[in-house]
Amino acid sequence: MPPLPVLVLNSGSSSIKFSAYEAGAGERKKLFEGAVDGIGTDLGKFWIKDADSRKLLDQTPALPNRAVAFKLVAGALHSGDFPSPAAIGHRVVCGGPTVSENQRITPALIDEIESYSALAPLHTPIAVYIMRQALSLFPGVPNFAILDTYFHRTMPGVVTVMPIPAEYAGMGVRRYGYHGISYESIVYQLQPEVPERLIVAHLGNGASISAIRGGRCLDTSMGLTPSGGLISGTRTGDIDPGVLLFILHKIAETTTNATEAADALETVVSKQSGLLGVSGQSNDMRDLREAIAAGNAKARLAVDKFTWTIAKWIGAFVAELGGLDMLVFTGGIGENDIASRAEICAGLGALGIELDRERNNVRGAATISAEGSRATVRVIPPAEDLMIVNHVVRLLGGQSDQA
Ligand code: ADP
Repeated sequence: MPPLPVLVLNSGSSSIKFSAYEAGAGERKKLFEGAVDGIGTDLGKFWIKDADSRKLLDQTPALPNRAVAFKLVAGALHSGDFPSPAAIGHRVVCGGPTVSENQRITPALIDEIESYSALAPLHTPIAVYIMRQALSLFPGVPNFAILDTYFHRTMPGVVTVMPIPAEYAGMGVRRYGYHGISYESIVYQLQPEVPERLIVAHLGNGASISAIRGGRCLDTSMGLTPSGGLISGTRTGDIDPGVLLFILHKIAETTTNATEAADALETVVSKQSGLLGVSGQSNDMRDLREAIAAGNAKARLAVDKFTWTIAKWIGAFVAELGGLDMLVFTGGIGENDIASRAEICAGLGALGIELDRERNNVRGAATISAEGSRATVRVIPPAEDLMIVNHVVRLLGGQSDQA
């Protein structure tokens, strides 16, 4: 296949990120990247940088809604200043129970993905909107849905089943797992020597951890929704269901409207909990580290809960994998928060995980384990856009999409 410009669209609840690569059979050359960020605010950001990180555009527009945000992106992409895409890859967080393979987007596929919006309510509606817009904006250009759940499709039934009445399983309630494109991109970067027993901790605003055997996902911490698993910036992670019932009963004291009550519970679970809830201050690790340095006990407790939970999952995954060859940290906290990595690994010597203090004193890609550590510990930034391009190239070439 001759090199073609492939556009990647990656939408979040308040941002649309995009990048383009010139991609052929074995070639990946970044052309540009950009984002509109701050959707829903008066002072958003809209920027585009070239492959050498030189700013080509830098604006602070009002972004009242996603339509305005996408219009800006579309306008720039159609301006003639950038190569027209030959194919487009869309990051899709969750395809639900019926869309589990990466594939070419059709209007029917978008409808199907939309019908399971409730599984990823912060992400799916905007992704659906952008997929529809992209189909009409670039007629004839093949668009592909690349799923965050795809990497986790190899998890066995004992991992995916939820211990609830079977009728709900029929509605798609099961463990899906998320951050899959990030995990795949770590495995891809480790090739050709992918360790047999690998744990990857993706620690960003959302946080999750996966056990990977022979490059294939065995288990992951997130569940039906990205609110499951680890405590993260604003989400509870796994929690005693009795807590949810307690909060629901409290909410029911002030409303008899069931939808209102469910929405209020959703807000507590996914926007007010996690690091923010426990600290009462911030969901951002940088703020919390500053507060800890100033002696704030609640910030200390929140971060301790975070690192303690991750250490516990690592222990469980080492047992599940029957040992460990490599632990990888990725995501904003995994790549940059030296103290979190040290605190997570502090008690894991018995599992063969030992950090080197000096080597860990780093931000970005590095090997940080001590010389005698049985498991290698590394920091590897994710390469999600590149991974999406890899899938698009394979699908364009008519090959089965096995990463
Ligand atoms: P998202 O899940 O939104 O993609 P990121 O992967 O960008 O999030 O991670 C955001 C988190 O990374 C925040 O908690 C932020 O404080 C943390 N982070 C980023 N840079 C640093 C740093 N230099 N030191 C500590 N934490 C950092």
